Amino acid sequence: MLCLSDSICDEDPLVQHWLCTVEEARTLPELVLAVWSVARVLAIRLVESVLAERARRPTLWPRCPQCGACVRSKGFVGRQVISLVGPIRWQRRVGRCPQGCETPQVAPLDDALGVQPHQRTSAELQSLGCAFAVFVPFATAATLLGWASGVAVSPRAVWDWVQAAGQRAMEQLHEQLQGVAEGHLPTAEPLAADLAATPLLMGADGVMVPFRPVGGQPRGKTAWHEIKVGVLARLGRHRTRTGALVARLHQRRLVAVFGKSEALQERLWLEALRQGIRSAPQVVWLSDGARGLWGLFEECFTLKIDTMCLEDIYRQKLMRFSQLTIGSKDRDCLKTGPEACWQVDTFSGHLTGAQLP
Ligand SMILES: [Zn+2]
Repeated sequence: MLCLSDSICDEDPLVQHWLCTVEEARTLPELVLAVWSVARVLAIRLVESVLAERARRPTLWPRCPQCGACVRSKGFVGRQVISLVGPIRWQRRVGRCPQGCETPQVAPLDDALGVQPHQRTSAELQSLGCAFAVFVPFATAATLLGWASGVAVSPRAVWDWVQAAGQRAMEQLHEQLQGVAEGHLPTAEPLAADLAATPLLMGADGVMVPFRPVGGQPRGKTAWHEIKVGVLARLGRHRTRTGALVARLHQRRLVAVFGKSEALQERLWLEALRQGIRSAPQVVWLSDGARGLWGLFEECFTLKIDTMCLEDIYRQKLMRFSQLTIGSKDRDCLKTGPEACWQVDTFSGHLTGAQLP
């Protein structure tokens, strides 16, 4: 037996079981998976011991929202939440109104931990599930989550988490849009000094996306709708090992909306403020010739910033940017001229030089 394994939880039968599995593992993958199980059990024990210690501390009881009496303790009651490392169990004091009001029982420790009443899974597990669901179907996301956490999760649960997260995100966005409309600037995202000195690239386009004809129902003919998308990035430069200077995009951000140009405009402006449009040394707008997009640009941005055309030095790099990010092999001719502004169809990768309207 290893020295380290001697020192960890010799009295815990579950840890002992997994330590034996570690000893018996032959191949490296078997060894890693066995150690992973030990790590998970240890993580659960560690979290539970911290929670037990916090539960022993004196509780500050709130007042009953109905009658104002100080809530009284009804003793310790067990709680369980499924987390990324497995099920976490703890005991904490719960309290009720001494006047018998019909307000629900309170658990101050749960409140301090950010655990909602009836919440069965921990937020970090839900976050990972939502992140998987961005890229794969819900059933696959649930399977991947099971592999990562060792707990069984249903596709329906992942669906519910995504709905809840989407609702929270929408509320947050509307608050921020309202704030900008009322003149409150959002907090800019922190940016390293070298990136803050690079041009801010912005662009927009519409893409057709398949929708179900009736929300939540798989039956019926696919309905195609246009989603308006805006992209933002900083155009940095990077020297390769061979000494060549290449363009590199940093701080990529994306906004999208199923709605009119005005809806995209306010979202794009909010994100542009967050990405430091007010202090960027140069702002470059990229879009195809669609009148709506140039209208959006004019209405939204020319009033607020001085638009600058791309300098010669960026032309080749802009092509590379287009190819790198979009994968297009289309090298359309670039018209040159000091008055030319570069329009790029950000989704097809088609590049054309065009006069500013
Ligand atoms: Zn009461």
